Amino acid sequence: MSPIYNFSAGPACLPEAVLKQAQQELLDWQGAGMSVMEMSHRGKEFMSIAAQAEADLRELMAIPENYKVLFLQGGASAQFANVPLNLLRGKKSADYIYSGQWSKKAIAEAKRFCDVNVAASAEASNFSVLPAQSEWRLNSDAAYLHYTPNETIGGLEFHWIPEVGDVPLVADMSSTILSRPIDVSKFGVIYAGAQKNIGPAGLTVVIVREDLLGETVPGMPTMCDYKTMADNDSMYNTPPTYGWYLAGLVFAWLKKNGGLAAMAEINERKAGKLYDAIDRSDFYANPIDPSCRSWMNVPFTLADAALDDAFLSGAKEAGLMTLKGHRSVGGMRASIYNAMPEAGVDALISFMADFEKRNG
Ligand SMILES: *Cc1c(COP(=O)(O)O)cnc(C)c1O
Repeated sequence: MSPIYNFSAGPACLPEAVLKQAQQELLDWQGAGMSVMEMSHRGKEFMSIAAQAEADLRELMAIPENYKVLFLQGGASAQFANVPLNLLRGKKSADYIYSGQWSKKAIAEAKRFCDVNVAASAEASNFSVLPAQSEWRLNSDAAYLHYTPNETIGGLEFHWIPEVGDVPLVADMSSTILSRPIDVSKFGVIYAGAQKNIGPAGLTVVIVREDLLGETVPGMPTMCDYKTMADNDSMYNTPPTYGWYLAGLVFAWLKKNGGLAAMAEINERKAGKLYDAIDRSDFYANPIDPSCRSWMNVPFTLADAALDDAFLSGAKEAGLMTLKGHRSVGGMRASIYNAMPEAGVDALISFMADFEKRNG
């Protein structure tokens, strides 16, 4: 049987070694006599799983001591509200960068809580290029600046970190966290739903600078307050224990495989060869300016959209799954997070060349 490669944008493929370890430990975690799913979150077994996962994530991302790491629920979408609720801190407005569909959602939610200044937008280019920071109209009194380093649907990615001085920088890193080393000290808050590049759906990781905690709006729901979650080691209520455990297995897998520097090298190479294959051909196209093409999500169209269904069914027969583009964009999208082996990208490229030969 030839291998199956899953190009889903999220929930996305997980490292096979991680799934095998989870399978092995499913019924009896390391002699505890029970599954991780059945353990009290306050028992010593799960406490050790939780602490190890956090320690490994801190090591991988070189997270400074003055940051809290939270393991929450609600997805990145809950953070669209939690960010203004926690970070407005008496201010009335926040800056947002509009780079695609996820930042659009973040902006819409923030408007429920504050004045949103869209400091820059990629709309004029139909979201094919990011506006240079020299063109941004930042508000010096903004409570924070929010941006989306990787737009999962459009495939538009920042390969640089905005400079915002003393204004806290907030990043929705759902689809790019752990894809490369980043300087965490440049950020006030980093958040990410786990189901792209961390682990299974149901877990949300929030990394927040300590001095930003504790000054919230009146009537703040307890579950939305980052300080409550930080003070209780993300165990104010029952955390998503199994997702936390699986994320920990992924962190250990990343460490074993060279950490984020090694991932960056592989990810750049995987994306580079796929974009090269697209650019070499008149049959396939990607609309994004080469300076901001995503390493993680590669959308592409066929010259003749009437061939889309044949492409998708042929790909499926070849073991290449979930390549259909987002319903709002059409065409194809290959999501190639850390867990996608390079061999999967090679298999996709060779299927694409073969399909072009037969149909071009
Ligand atoms: C998937 C995604 C989201 C939404 O995540 P949920 O966990 O479903 O709320 C938000 N932002 C980005 C960049 C995403 O890729």
